[in-house]
Formats: sequence, structure tokens, C-alpha cells
Amino acid sequence: MGVGAVTLVAGTWFGVGQAEAAALTQAQRDALTPDQIIEMMKKGNERFRSGKMKAQDFLAQKRASAAGQYPAAAILSCIDSRAPAEIILDMGIGDTFNARVAGNIANQDMLGSLEFACAVEGAKVVLVMGHTACGAIKGAIDNVQLGNLTGLLDTIKPAIAATQYAGERSSKNAGFVEAVARSNVRLAIDTIRSGSPTLADLEKTGKIKIVGSMYNLSNGEVTFLT
Ligand SMILES: [Zn+2]
Repeated sequence: MGVGAVTLVAGTWFGVGQAEAAALTQAQRDALTPDQIIEMMKKGNERFRSGKMKAQDFLAQKRASAAGQYPAAAILSCIDSRAPAEIILDMGIGDTFNARVAGNIANQDMLGSLEFACAVEGAKVVLVMGHTACGAIKGAIDNVQLGNLTGLLDTIKPAIAATQYAGERSSKNAGFVEAVARSNVRLAIDTIRSGSPTLADLEKTGKIKIVGSMYNLSNGEVTFLT
């Protein structure tokens, strides 16, 4: 389906030229397909990185969503202060569930959160978003040992081993750090599918899509992994 049709279907959500006053309604969300929602995320990121973001009316969105929420997607992303998912995808209040943890790992609590978002609340896309220059990825590469962080970084370490890279395998090498972050997104998606039969079944029956992406801190682009 083309972009034009997406704009038509969701015109009230991603209307151009006026402040977004309303949160998603159930009818609007239910009418969207996972592919349309992914297309909207891409468009939102285009607006963000071109400086043409919507004029969000957060107070109106708060009022519209207080009695009930119908988010289109659930995003698993890193706590990094430079990678706020709603902002870089130009989303408003009520549009997305946001699960954030250092290194965007899919641990049991995150799987539970994503199951709540999709199986209970009806979100149709799970987006795992890694990012360039991720401190958690660097910490895992450097084998940092620090309190509870040690166990979190252990969860990332399989991504290091899974990363084929010809150059220097060091946290000082931005290219290697990015490659590991990309592997880490793919492994998180594997973990979601293997660790959550609930989400895997929703994906198999076409009710949701589970997709990976990388956010570039320098140019603001979110690249969807294929
Ligand atoms: Zn990070």
C-alpha cells in the first residue's frame, strides 16, 4: 500500500499544518495495519530530522487520552538521553508504549511489558531501537563490572560474539560499536520471539509486526533493519 493511502487512512493522526490535538482513538488505531504504522514512524522521523515536526498540543492529547489509551506501537529502546523515541519519531501522548532500558535488552520484565502493550492493549508494532555510540554497548565490549550493571551488560555480550567485523574490535572504534548495537537489536528480536510465545503467535497470525531499527545520534536518522 502506498504512502498516499496511509496518509488518507490516518489523516487525523498525522495531519499536516495544524497542531495535533487528539490522541489516537480506538477506531483510528484498529483501522491501521502494522505496515501503515511502520510507515508513519518513518514519516515522523523524516519530519524530526528535517526540522518540520508537528505542533504537538500535549495538553489536548492528555485530555483526549485520559479516559483510555489506544497506542499503535510499543518501542523497546535505550535510556540514552539523546535517543528519546517519541521525539525522534515525532509522536504525541497516547501514540506509543515506551520501554526503555540501557542497551534496549529484552529481559523478562521487558517481554512482559511488550506483551501487555500488544496482547492486552492492542498495539500492532513492536519496534526495537538501538543507537550509535551506545554507552551500554561500549560497557559490554569493555567488560565493565559495576553493581547491577554487570548483569545487564552480560545480556549484551552475546551480541559482541555474534558480530562479524573486519576492523578493530574495540569500544574506541565507532564502527564496531555500531555493528554490535545492530547485532544487539537483532538478538533482542530473537529473544522476543523465543521468549514470548504470546508475541510470536501474534506475529505469526499477522496481528503484529516485530521490527528492528538503529538511530543515528549524528544525523537523526532512524534506519529500519531488514
Ligand atoms: Zn544506549
